[in-house]
Amino acid sequence: MSDAPRIVVLPGDGIGPEIVAAARTLLESLGEFEFDERLMGGCSIDAHGVALTDEVLEACLGADAVLLGAVGGPKWDTTDPDAPRPEQGLLGLRKGMGLYANLRPVRPSPALVGASPLREERIAGTDLLVVRELTGGIYFGDSGRDGDVAHDTCEYSVEEIDRIARTAFEAARRRAGDSGRRPKVTSVDKDNVLETSRLWREVVGRVAGNYEDVELEHLLVDNAAMQLVSRPADFDVVLAENLFGDILSDEAAMLTGSLGMLPSASLGADGAPGLFEPVHGSAPDIAGRGSANPLATILSAAMMLRHGFGRGADAARIETAVDAVLERGLRTPDLASGTVAQPPMVDVPQEVEVGTTEMTAAVLEELGA
Ligand code: NAD
Repeated sequence: MSDAPRIVVLPGDGIGPEIVAAARTLLESLGEFEFDERLMGGCSIDAHGVALTDEVLEACLGADAVLLGAVGGPKWDTTDPDAPRPEQGLLGLRKGMGLYANLRPVRPSPALVGASPLREERIAGTDLLVVRELTGGIYFGDSGRDGDVAHDTCEYSVEEIDRIARTAFEAARRRAGDSGRRPKVTSVDKDNVLETSRLWREVVGRVAGNYEDVELEHLLVDNAAMQLVSRPADFDVVLAENLFGDILSDEAAMLTGSLGMLPSASLGADGAPGLFEPVHGSAPDIAGRGSANPLATILSAAMMLRHGFGRGADAARIETAVDAVLERGLRTPDLASGTVAQPPMVDVPQEVEVGTTEMTAAVLEELGA
């Protein structure tokens, strides 16, 4: 067997195979990787009757990293609670791989700041990372109904908070190493009301003691929601529990205004494989046309290099190459200024509309690959 890192590739449905092929070409140009392509999502339902087979989960657990496209589509939409659904594959992967940390960077490309719903002077310089706890809190606590009364329970243990806090502080350090800026973690809670938040703040503060080079600030979640839109450039790493992180990561994602540009990583215990995927879905409306934007998946591959393989410099090269092709004016149809909220405000050359293959080739060219 070769020593090359082994990547399980799950293209999924809709545009998944198109965008994953782009990221794979890019990875192949950067070094030796062993790829193991498998079915997951709707395509697995068609072939095996379930969205995620035990065999595919085993392959993922035995890999060095997992690259996912997207799953789902009208073909598998159903109201039958007993019918298999593509997203069961995603949940099965998160649970089976013990992925407790979700990382979403938000770094609007300078050429696309005009797509942000915020004014250019507000969004300029934004480069933040939301670290969300993924397997605890109110989504996983006891819930139920008794007549006219319903309840959902939020529970967190010291261990759960400790490990996600460490992920955030480590990420802040790594980002500082890549960018040269002073690392900062903004921990979000509601400690004036919630006991779980008081425990959260206590444990995060303790973990911070091991990271004296990293500044720690605490923000109440309502304040954090406001600050994210009023001064996004002041944030570095935003650390939040599951529910708060779910909401804040979507708010932060909207800062860029471009769904086709957002990567994500889900990580588990040290040394365990992570899952890297674009934030967007399977876009069945444009599947098979060759027009899907591959950049979110390419940037997810960059996250794989940084967080999965410790190759931060290669990740940064990819991010710079993506900025460069956008500065050259290349746009997939979803990014073309006719379809974004406002036209780009920075001085960019005339836009050229391109498809998935041309966009990928342009990134490769910028990388000198
Ligand atoms: P979507 O993200 O697939 O699409 C929303 C809009 O954005 C569509 O107009 C689509 O064409 C466009 N878009 C998305 N990604 C694009 C890209 N890379 N390039 C160009 N345009 C892009 O969300 P949706 O329409 O709500 O969901 C479609 C399917 O995807 C559903 O079955 C949903 O369940 C599934 N979904 C999967 C995931 C995942 O796999 N992680 C996430 C969200 C939605």
